[in-house]
Amino acid sequence: MRRFIIALTIMLAACGDSSTPTGPSNPGQPQGQTRSIAGRITDLLTGAGVQGARVAIGSAAAVTTGGDGSWRADVPPPSTDRILTTITAAGFQPRETYVAWTNNDRQNVAIDVLPDRPPFSLAFYRELVRDGLESPSRLEPVRRWTANPHIYLRTLNPKTGQPLAPAETAALLQNVRDAVSQLTGGLLSVGTVESGVAARPERVGTINIDIKYEPGDDYCGITFVGANPGSVSFNYERCTTPCAGNPLGPELIAHEIGHALGFWHVSSGVMQAEDFVNCPTVNFTDSERLHGSIAYRRPSGNLDIDRDPQSVSALAAPGGSPAIRCRRSRSH
Ligand SMILES: [Zn+2]
Repeated sequence: MRRFIIALTIMLAACGDSSTPTGPSNPGQPQGQTRSIAGRITDLLTGAGVQGARVAIGSAAAVTTGGDGSWRADVPPPSTDRILTTITAAGFQPRETYVAWTNNDRQNVAIDVLPDRPPFSLAFYRELVRDGLESPSRLEPVRRWTANPHIYLRTLNPKTGQPLAPAETAALLQNVRDAVSQLTGGLLSVGTVESGVAARPERVGTINIDIKYEPGDDYCGITFVGANPGSVSFNYERCTTPCAGNPLGPELIAHEIGHALGFWHVSSGVMQAEDFVNCPTVNFTDSERLHGSIAYRRPSGNLDIDRDPQSVSALAAPGGSPAIRCRRSRSH
């Protein structure tokens, strides 16, 4: 009798209307019903099922995946429509994500996890994606584009007062296209491209590229990391010497576009802060491409090690996008 009274009290509080109690009769679940939710845990790099992973979803008892990575849990009604789900597995990075609560049972919830083995390197991923090299005590969230970035290139060369030569413009834009494709694993490519000598105000969805000429200053480029609208500035001729005489060398273009796509400085590769790997080409290392493409398979706002934000609707990571100033001034 006492148990019944407690249950009835909960029902009344939940429904807010004592005349129409509509909850189910199960006294432990006054709102909604337990649902069967099932899915599969896979290795992000290989796509193979992960056996023996522990899946804890909402307030359900944790379950363990079978040989093909499949799992199923009976999940009590949650308090929100996105259910915190935690995956731990030997040999993999822990993962936190959210599974949508719907009106029906679910059968094909796909969740991938990052392996704790080469070619994945958590140390390198933290450098490239979380600013772990230059700011290891303040790891950043994933900041990434969710749609193909449009480009506006302001072609005015402030050194000459004239537009860039057509060949310079064409090469620069090709380098931008290559960089976007390489670092996102082909997930994104450059959207529409416009150019003109006039400055253009920022627009959501577009990366504005400007050419500066500040020979007395020490930077080669300044970019807002992962910002949308995006902004990249090149200091014309500042990196000419290490780029074989090219005032807008391909690797410099790639490096700044890497920042615009949400990436930070690394210890080795095109995104390294000093020195060039091979300035005449856009050629991100295999490790840069792999770890960049992984970040592009996570929502913006994903936190170290691999924790998704509860809301996936956020367009940008919280906290604004910081500018990064690239000196890259040493030459070989
Ligand atoms: Zn840089």
